[in-house]
Amino acid sequence: MSVNSTAAVCVVCKRRDAFFFRPYSGEKLCKKCFVESIEAKVRGTIGKYNMFSFDDRIAVAVSGGKDSISLLHILAKTEQAHPKSSLVAVTVDEGIKGYRDEALEIAAANCKALGVEHHVVSFKELYGFTLDEIIARTGPKSERELTSCAYCGVLRRRALNVAARDVCADKVATAHTLDDEVQTSLMNIFRGDIARLAKEKPVTDKVHPRLVRKVKPFCEVPERESTLYAYVKNIRFQDTPCPYASEALRNDIRAMLNRMEQKRAGTKFTVFKSIERIRPALVNVVEKDEFQECVECGEPASGSLCRTCEMLRDLC
Ligand code: SF4
Repeated sequence: MSVNSTAAVCVVCKRRDAFFFRPYSGEKLCKKCFVESIEAKVRGTIGKYNMFSFDDRIAVAVSGGKDSISLLHILAKTEQAHPKSSLVAVTVDEGIKGYRDEALEIAAANCKALGVEHHVVSFKELYGFTLDEIIARTGPKSERELTSCAYCGVLRRRALNVAARDVCADKVATAHTLDDEVQTSLMNIFRGDIARLAKEKPVTDKVHPRLVRKVKPFCEVPERESTLYAYVKNIRFQDTPCPYASEALRNDIRAMLNRMEQKRAGTKFTVFKSIERIRPALVNVVEKDEFQECVECGEPASGSLCRTCEMLRDLC
């Protein structure tokens, strides 16, 4: 973390001592100006990508981790300026013993402190299995075709969409940071998944009436700054890692990007902006999604059976 205690004065207020050096911009900031810079960045991103309408009902996906809790605090603050919009927090309980229970309690406590309605949806109630039970059924890790995160990712995406519909949300705001976005883009390139590279953007398109649009107000906030925001604001969040975290490719890319950023400050922003510039051209060359109703659950699917039902079928 580029936090230091140099005697430099904050370059913004020019009064208080700087506590943070932002390598990619050269700014030295005091705590107050740092916090304001993050909030201004998020407001700027929301405006730039036209993420919300003045009367949107916004569901914030709150896992209980630093990024989602920081996003909840910032959106709760910015929403006060928009009396016709409303905010609701949604948490997906995957059913990970000893991990998700703590996160749920932290998410609920933050929502209560901010006066934000909190809605929880669980894998158990939606699918009949917790993630722990699913992983137990899929056999030893070495023999499994899919990683725990692959199961979790598909089922959580569906659960989040269902939760957003349950609370009548117009948009779902997720706390994907600049780091997450750049890692995901590079993973898609490394896997040759150009269709996904074209689709994963700061605001998803309206592709089906049953799919709630997703927005990513933190997509231009580096993860280290989202973490620092939570510390400076004294926000309580869960910092225990998920016991199933297993995305080897993401871990390799994260390490590579962090090394690059260390040597050449601003690398992550450069990659993010490059992808943003390339994306419109990609959208024109990838096949458009054709949706039909899943024969099993009736949710939008690209084939006769949606990915969620395919996975659940394999478990039985
Ligand atoms: Fe799910 Fe993987 Fe994230 Fe754990 S690390 S919550 S298994 S996606």
